[in-house]
Amino acid sequence: MPTQSPGCLWVVATPIGHRDDISARAIAVLREATVIAAEDTRHSRPLLQHCNVATPLVALHEHNEREAVDGLVRRMLDGESVALISDAGTPLVSDPGFRLVRAARAAGIRCVPVPGACAAIAALSVAGLPSDRFVFEGFLPPKPAARRARLERLASEPRTLIFYESSHRVAESLADLRDVFGGEREAVLARELTKLFETVIGEPLAELAARVAADPDQQRGECVLLVAGRGEEADARLAEGQRIFAILRGELPPAKAARLAAAISGAPRKALYGTGSGEQGAGNP
Ligand code: SAM
Repeated sequence: MPTQSPGCLWVVATPIGHRDDISARAIAVLREATVIAAEDTRHSRPLLQHCNVATPLVALHEHNEREAVDGLVRRMLDGESVALISDAGTPLVSDPGFRLVRAARAAGIRCVPVPGACAAIAALSVAGLPSDRFVFEGFLPPKPAARRARLERLASEPRTLIFYESSHRVAESLADLRDVFGGEREAVLARELTKLFETVIGEPLAELAARVAADPDQQRGECVLLVAGRGEEADARLAEGQRIFAILRGELPPAKAARLAAAISGAPRKALYGTGSGEQGAGNP
């Protein structure tokens, strides 16, 4: 079992649901640390009690991280060991801790990972989507226009995409993903991983978006969305869509031509002709 080095920052993953997913090494480190910097001390207390960890806690969250970092770095320079945890999963992954780790490293303090649960990786491990290369995008912007703009920038990404999403926006985000990436793109919704209502559904985006919109139970709990990267078939569909669009636009208004070309080819309509003032996408990948 690892023992503490003086003046060390331990970055400790905690469970994303199932309490037994905390590692024996994580428990040992949390017991031996001088202090635990926790995102929400009230939230972490039950888990720590369950693991018989009596180490004092200090708060380190997005609203106090700047101020708290200096004090913690000073303590580590004085030889204390600090364990960093977040509410769930791996600190720094859509969670606080970046500033602390950066400041600790800049001060020459050893930073040691104590790896464990991470919702993105847990979801990827069961999604059945290509996992050799993937992109973690964190949370999408909550406002529709910004979200769609972000998705448009990602539409030609060839690697598997992983998003965190809040349950009350999952239906909206899936509808945007379908509109921007095309209804045929393979996607997975991984919900409540390691918990009682764990659900992993893999379907083309059109079906997944319709299923989630129609079923309020699929809009509950914690969600990870994964979308296959754009593959060669999508490239072929887009090329076909562009060919059909080029023919039809000689005979029809461009919006109608794009709708038909998208329906015939399976290419996303927005990639053929944008919804804004100008024409877009005919040359878009
Ligand atoms: N640091 C965490 C990690 O390592 O995964 C992520 C923290 S982030 C604030 C919380 C988001 O992670 C949730 O909104 C959800 O998207 C995802 N998440 C966390 N736990 C999950 C679970 N049990 N099942 C599915 N998604 C989860």
